Amino acid sequence: MGKPTGFLEYERCENKKRPPLERVRDWEDLYIPVEGEQRLLQGARCMNCGIPFCQAGVQFEGKQLGCPLHNLIPEWNDMLMDGNYGHALSRLLKTNNFPEFTGRVCPAFCEQACTCGLYDQPITVHDNERSIIEYAFQNGMMKPRFTRNASGKNVVVIGSGPAGLAVADQLNHRGHSVTVVEKHPRAGGILTYGIPNMKLPKSVVQRRIDLMTDEGVTFVTGLDASDPAIARRLSAEYDAVVLCCGAEEPRAIGVDAGGVKGVCYAMDFLHASVERQIFGLETDGPGAAGKDVVIIGTGNTASDCVASALRQGCRSVTQLVRRGREDYLDASGRLPQDYAQEEAESLFGADPRRFGQSVAELRTDGDGNLTEITTKSGDTLPCGLLIGATGFAGCREDVCAAFGVERDRTVKTEKGCYQTSVPHIFTAGDMHRGQSLVVHAIAEGRAAAVEVDRFLMGYTNLL
Ligand SMILES: Cc1cc2nc3c(=O)[nH]c(=O)nc-3n(C[C@H](O)[C@H](O)[C@H](O)COP(=O)(O)OP(=O)(O)OC[C@H]3O[C@@H](n4cnc5c(N)ncnc54)[C@H](O)[C@@H]3O)c2cc1C
Ligand code: SF4
Repeated sequence: MGKPTGFLEYERCENKKRPPLERVRDWEDLYIPVEGEQRLLQGARCMNCGIPFCQAGVQFEGKQLGCPLHNLIPEWNDMLMDGNYGHALSRLLKTNNFPEFTGRVCPAFCEQACTCGLYDQPITVHDNERSIIEYAFQNGMMKPRFTRNASGKNVVVIGSGPAGLAVADQLNHRGHSVTVVEKHPRAGGILTYGIPNMKLPKSVVQRRIDLMTDEGVTFVTGLDASDPAIARRLSAEYDAVVLCCGAEEPRAIGVDAGGVKGVCYAMDFLHASVERQIFGLETDGPGAAGKDVVIIGTGNTASDCVASALRQGCRSVTQLVRRGREDYLDASGRLPQDYAQEEAESLFGADPRRFGQSVAELRTDGDGNLTEITTKSGDTLPCGLLIGATGFAGCREDVCAAFGVERDRTVKTEKGCYQTSVPHIFTAGDMHRGQSLVVHAIAEGRAAAVEVDRFLMGYTNLL
């Protein structure tokens, strides 16, 4: 695998972010990919380490060790080194339905587990993955694949985020007839309406939906399955139902905002942002242009709100982080910044985070419009838009009630299983696991598909 001495000969070379002041002025891809000979050398750095922890995909002391999809990383690094993109692609697609998503937004547990990283820089697994799938799309290798034997069974997947797409892709290639029902006008879930274009271009999501459509998956958009009559019909008409509706219930922002105009949750802001900026639609959803924006929370969602507010032309942006600064320092005592914080600092001269702060009070003008907030430590900040990015409390009650499945925070199943309290109804992704990551959603979708297939056929060859 790889070149045994490659890690000694070649330096790690990552995809580079465009300069903050350049990228903050558009909604295009954050990264400039490393291509050509240099990319092959990055494959060659994979060192034939004997025990590739990168692909282990296990939980160890509550932490994820290695790729949850068990991607065959050393194999495709080896093929990449030889420039054999076709073979690398075939190994990559064995375990990952959508490398074009994970190769852009995955936090790369593989690299954290890379043996080469124990004493030096890990292999650029994440970027190599993106390069293999993009080469494949750009060179006509991603053609529709059809299954010869139809099973005669039909399955409906509710929700078209990465979990629903993975279930649908797996079961479609197995020969079942698959319909995906989505309440929004476009498929993709958070891939489309949450993660901003610069992290995951919407054309990349649509390209995959188009391919799946060509392969025979039916997408029905604009249909809300939480309507009890619709749920009853779907449940009766299909041999199996898979609920992949995400963890949409936002956590409360911790201050009474009843009747105040200018307060919203992150997903409302990001959804409106994609509709307006990327799809060119008119929307009365919340916008940041010309406003002083305050975002409560940290993590991916809060950062995506910061970056989107900057691109919309906000007057200022502040991120209130409940825990202290010291909780976020790295081993060398520095405060890491993500892409959004880099951009805010470049534009406004300071990191947008204020640590150990939360909102105490909202102040409004005579018409109920938000004008200022005060924090629990007594600071007053101008604020025309307050965005709650404090995470998600679990899945929505309505859709669970409509299908009659048991739920507490998420849909209930036996541990490590995907079948709900109703035998022909299954669940996967954030709706099952709780708020998580794209890579976990794909892994859940694949595992749920195995159970569904076994339920329908009495056996499965989807392993
Ligand atoms: C802003 C944001 C940024 C993120 N950034 C990253 C990141 O950088 N990297 C990463 O790995 N993870 C990221 N995540 C997490 C990741 O996006 C989720 O874990 C993942 O999308 C979950 O996939 P899912 O398919 O389970 O659910 P979702 O993607 O939430 O999809 C659920 C789908 O179900 C549909 N639905 C819900 N109810 C109904 C209904 N009643 N009828 C029909 N359809 C319905 C919804 O409209 C939606 O399309 C981010 C999350 C957010 C919110
Ligand atoms: S899916 Fe994520 S963890 Fe797995 S190989 Fe790709 S970047 Fe690494």
